[in-house]
Formats: sequence, C-alpha cells, structure tokens
Amino acid sequence: MSLKAGIVGLPNVGKSTLFNAITNSHVLAENYPFATIDPNTGVVIVPDERLDYLTEMWQPKKKVNATFEFYDIAGLVKGASKGEGLGNQFLAAIRECDAIVEVVRCFDSEQVLRYNEDPVDPANDIATINLELAMSDLSAVNNRIGKQEVKARIAKDKVAMYEMPILLSLKKTLENGDPARLAKGLTSEQIAYAKKNFFLLSLKPILYVANVADSDYTDLEHCAYYQIVKGIAEKEHAECIPVSCAIEYEISQLPPDEKKEFLASLGAKESGLDKLVKASYKLLNLSTFFTCGKDECRAWTFKNGMLAPQCAGIIHSDFERGFIKAEVYDFDSLKKYGSEEAVKENGKLRSEGKEYVMKDGDIVFFRFNV
Ligand code: GDP
Repeated sequence: MSLKAGIVGLPNVGKSTLFNAITNSHVLAENYPFATIDPNTGVVIVPDERLDYLTEMWQPKKKVNATFEFYDIAGLVKGASKGEGLGNQFLAAIRECDAIVEVVRCFDSEQVLRYNEDPVDPANDIATINLELAMSDLSAVNNRIGKQEVKARIAKDKVAMYEMPILLSLKKTLENGDPARLAKGLTSEQIAYAKKNFFLLSLKPILYVANVADSDYTDLEHCAYYQIVKGIAEKEHAECIPVSCAIEYEISQLPPDEKKEFLASLGAKESGLDKLVKASYKLLNLSTFFTCGKDECRAWTFKNGMLAPQCAGIIHSDFERGFIKAEVYDFDSLKKYGSEEAVKENGKLRSEGKEYVMKDGDIVFFRFNV
C-alpha cells in the first residue's frame, strides 16, 4: 500500500534534518526492494513489538516490518497560496499526500536564522501555515460553489444540492483562516464526502512535530515552546510529537546497539523518530496484520475497514482473485496461550469468509485457489 505522509513547515525549522534522519535509518534493501525511489521520498520501517515477538517464536529466515513513506515537501513561505515561492508546486505536493506532518520550530539558535528574522514563535508559525492551506482551499471551495450553486438552485441537481450546505460550512470555516478539519456542524458522512470529492489540503489529517532543542528534549515540562504546540494540537484534537531533529539525525547515524545505549542515556526507550512513525501510521488510519512461517514473519499494512479478500490482495492479486477463506487468530490470544497449537486447542483459530473485516493484530493464513 503506498500511503505517504508529507513533511511540511516554514524554512529553517528542521525539516531536512528530520528527513535526513529518516533516510539514514537504513531500510534493509534486500527486504524492501522498492526502498529507493525519488530523492524526496523516505521509506520508514514501522517498529512493532508484536512482530519482534512473532520472530522470536518462529525463528524465520526473514523478518519484514511494515513500511510507509515520508515525503519531503520543501518551499512553503508566506503567500504560497498566492503563488509566492514554490507556492503552487508546494500545494500540489501536499495534495498528493494522505496526511500532513508539520514541523514546528521550538529551538532558539543565533546561527539558524528564522525565515522572517523574528524571535521563535510556534503559534505564529502554525497560524501562517494553516492560513496558507486554508486560503488555497478557500479558492477551491469558492470555485466549486460557483459551479454548483446554480445547478442546485435552478436545475435542482441532486449532487449539487447535497454539496451546497457542506461547501458553505467549509467556506465559513476557511474564511476565518481555520483549517477545514475544524468545520463545525457537519456529519461524519458529509466530512467523508468532502474528503473524497473536494481534495482540500486542510481537511487532511495532521500531526505536529515540535522540534525542540537537544537540551529541552529531556525536560519538556519546562519547554514553553513545546507547551504552546501541544496546547494548539490538543485544541485541534491532533497529536503533537516532541522531537529534537538534531538528536534524531545523530541517532540515525549510529549502529543499532549504540543507538539503544544513546537512547538509554537520554532516559528514552524509543527514539522520537520511532514515535513519529507510529503516530503517523495511526494518523493514516492504518493497521497491521501478520503472516508467519519458517521462511518469513511479516507485518502487512492495511487500511482500517478492509475486508479479508482485499487484505489477501495486498500480498498477491491471486490471493484476492482466488480467495476461499482466511484462517485467523489474534496476536493477544497467541501471547496468552503461548503457541499456535495452544491457540487452536482453545478454539481461538477462526475460519473467516469474504465479508470478514480484518482487525489490527490478526495473524492470518489465506486459503485461495486460482
Ligand atoms: P528546513 O529548512 O526546515 O529543512 O531546516 P533544516 O533541517 O535545513 O535546518 C535548518 C538549520 O537548523 C540547520 O542548520 C540545522 O542544523 C539546524 N537545526 C535543525 N534542527 C535543529 C535542532 O533541533 N537544534 C538546533 N540547534 N539546530 C537545529
């Protein structure tokens, strides 16, 4: 599944440093042949303790984690929605992403100039970006209103009549400079419709990365900048991940055992990057199922809500075409009973058909016939 999260932010906030940490965190080329694509795309491994457990148990020749892509979107400056800087190119790149990761500068440094040379100001930075995306969306929404308004009023066109109240609600929100995500009074069905049909940037799910100074990383309580970003994220029901991009870059250059030591010295179990990867995966509405055997233990990514045959198709199109059934048990049962045999003995191995909605943590064997 090729889903990607786009990294955005104003100039000099640490985007490239973070992106370099991502591309440095070596993805094993032999397991991930698609890992070298264009220079703006970084493939990350999704850390998963469950896969570690399964690999311990099966001792396979190969362990393959789930992956997804980060896309480095440079070039946002104030006025992008009016074509400033790389404006249109920048907005088009965001349009292609499934979610947005916004890096916000939370570190002081005299060496690293701010784009406008003002003091560090996370709230203003977030507002600047939100406003650019909202203005770009507002012009898209106004265009659509222009087309649909007459159709709804005169021709009583059903689609146009359905769209108009949604468009007007979005317009009101965007005119305030707020992201379309925050539009009030829309049903979940209307929001889903807007997501599918209007291609708005500010309707995409977002998470904030607060890029804090190395010295603040272990003392976030006292980092006022971080608290500001966290507060904004909470209001928007978005996630905020504290990261020191500089530290992440250092970590990404270390061999795995030294990486653990370094993290321990910071009092951390996992890196900020690992946290970011996990949170982005969740933001993209993704889950994982596993296939296990002596050859390979593997985590596969699927979109929440997918049915068993579609998930089989992620492995191979033949599996979907010739789908017969899925033999499934859940990871928690395996952990509880200790072995696949014991899972079977306790009646936890199920046979599921074409209508089965796959669940996060399912361990599955697909039966198919082509
Ligand atoms: P971008 O324009 O957003 O891609 O920003 P860069 O990643 O190029 O970073 C701009 C400058 O800030 C570079 O000189 C980085 O070394 C520096 N920088 C990035 N992250 C940090 C950080 O966490 N702490 C400090 N002190 N400097 C950082």
